[in-house]
Amino acid sequence: MSCFDREPHRLAGFALAAVLAGCGFGPALADDQAGRWPDGWHPHRPDQAPPQASGPAYRKGVVAVANPYAAEAGAQILERGGNAVDAAVAIAYALNVVEPQSAGIGGGGFMMIHLALSGRTFVIDTREKAPAGATPDMFVGVPNSSLQGVAVGVPGMVRGTADAVRKYGRLDLAEVLRPAIRLADEGFAATPRYAAVSCNSRSRNSPEAEAFFCPGGSAPVVGSLVQNKPLAQTFRLIARHGPDCFYKFMPQKGCDIAKGIVEGQQFDRPQAPNGKGGSMTYADLENYRAAERRPVEGSYRGHTIKAAMPPSSGGLTILQMLKMLERFPIGDAAQGYGFGSVKTINVMADAMRLAFADRSIWMGDADFVPVPGRGLLHPQYVEQRGAAIVPGVRLAPNPTPGDPLPYESAGHHGRPRVAAAEPVTGPGETTTHFVAADKWGNVVSYTNTIESSHGIGVFAGYRRADGSFRNHGFLLNNELTDFNTVPSTNPYTGSAGYNDVQPGKRPRSSMVPTMIFTPRGDPLIAYGSPGGATIINSVLNVTLNLIDHKMTLQQAVDAPRVSITGTGSTIARDDGIAPAAPLPADTVAGLAALGYTVGAPADIGSVQAVLIDPWTGRQYGAADGRREGTVIGLPRRQGH
Ligand code: GLU
Repeated sequence: MSCFDREPHRLAGFALAAVLAGCGFGPALADDQAGRWPDGWHPHRPDQAPPQASGPAYRKGVVAVANPYAAEAGAQILERGGNAVDAAVAIAYALNVVEPQSAGIGGGGFMMIHLALSGRTFVIDTREKAPAGATPDMFVGVPNSSLQGVAVGVPGMVRGTADAVRKYGRLDLAEVLRPAIRLADEGFAATPRYAAVSCNSRSRNSPEAEAFFCPGGSAPVVGSLVQNKPLAQTFRLIARHGPDCFYKFMPQKGCDIAKGIVEGQQFDRPQAPNGKGGSMTYADLENYRAAERRPVEGSYRGHTIKAAMPPSSGGLTILQMLKMLERFPIGDAAQGYGFGSVKTINVMADAMRLAFADRSIWMGDADFVPVPGRGLLHPQYVEQRGAAIVPGVRLAPNPTPGDPLPYESAGHHGRPRVAAAEPVTGPGETTTHFVAADKWGNVVSYTNTIESSHGIGVFAGYRRADGSFRNHGFLLNNELTDFNTVPSTNPYTGSAGYNDVQPGKRPRSSMVPTMIFTPRGDPLIAYGSPGGATIINSVLNVTLNLIDHKMTLQQAVDAPRVSITGTGSTIARDDGIAPAAPLPADTVAGLAALGYTVGAPADIGSVQAVLIDPWTGRQYGAADGRREGTVIGLPRRQGH
């Protein structure tokens, strides 16, 4: 076993130094040896020692993806001289082919990029926008709105990924798209997960989707060939003419994708009366711009963490929870904490309840509403909120949102509003998170979605004059159901909701690509998850596993997770992936004794992660067995 194969999480406190001793580090390093620690970490503070990984190490790049074919696409692009941005975009397009129910060019997401040369970390926000014709009450009285055209937001992935490749990539977009075009054209063997999630009520929402996802009337057989020639043709159009071919109707160039989106989102034929199509126009598509934003930033036990900013609620919520939890010795089993203990889950659960209460009121698209980001993360505000967490007691009654406005700097107070609705999605089938790192030190952490499984269950496309269907091969999102589907009022202020629909606005998201940095500012770990609002808690669980419980990267991903995405006391439980042990029955009973309801075990999230060892620069990946997580590192090991 090499020193990096060890499992330091099993060794608390100073015992970590003994592990390091086996790697050539003394258990009590003198100050003059401090240079052997990564900059900024101190040998006398083993609690601040960086999280570690085990397993194969790479130097020339690594990708961690929820699907093996898409991981291969990313690895090929790295091998062809692409950087992490190129690889990430190749993966995103490939996932549209092999995980079409989860994400693709019909949707959007958040692409967090760290560039080694400049040291800059930023997020390309490709979140969908409400069309100009959208109104706050557009979902009112509409049955099954998540299956109708009215739910479709203006897609952002094509514009944002093209911007990313043009500005930060090393290859042409056409080359980056090549693996995905090939996958769609030549096909792939249906994986168990593809087969399992392909045919359901959502994919049956339109005849064309039903024919594709339920071939012969039922789910495809594992191993059967899945080809998507229309999607290959769409990708070729984008490769040849660039993103404008997606966003502008230019029949003279053969660019008719915009027509397929605009006519596709007029879909108003769900399995219920009173269907409602969307109002998207060519102008909405032409006007779509991706935004480049600074992530929110905070620290946890000395580790700098950056995470997705509004319109995602993810970064603010995770940083609030971490700050509330910092005063508890989460990793210390001797004090009754430690992984999976009643005490640890008790404080985690109540931190979730407090943070999700704030999320329901104060978070939305900061381009439209004054999200009080500073106030929400102000140390005194978080301390005051977190004081309600008492180990051994379940917070009761259910928490209400706090008021961060007094902690927000002057001039940021205006127009407080509310956001109350939850996304319609469950954690199962949709959205995808992946990470790509290259040999130059660039890292991309990217969460991408079309919201619910199969979006609205309708392909972009239109009827030709002869009655045949011109299919563009990708599903339209139902992202606008992440808005409040009923206009809401802030109980504090009486004004309209932060997350109410407005024309041009982006719906509040939970997606939270995240990175932990070394004190020197290099990315140490990049990670994230799908799972609707549980995304935020998956990221929280993994963060505590790494920093408090000293798990290796893969152990942190495999371990059981807990989640509460509201203010109530029902804890969703995920029992982890072997070899991780499930949560002990004693813990479940202990939580019940405190008054929590603990759900039956069910998967929460699908975390993909990369760790870059600050001592050696070696790269490690971890992928989630809850889906078909795959790590490919370079140079390839035999058989990979
Ligand atoms: N649309 C959701 C969001 O942006 C993601 C959907 C999911 O992960 O299930 O938060």
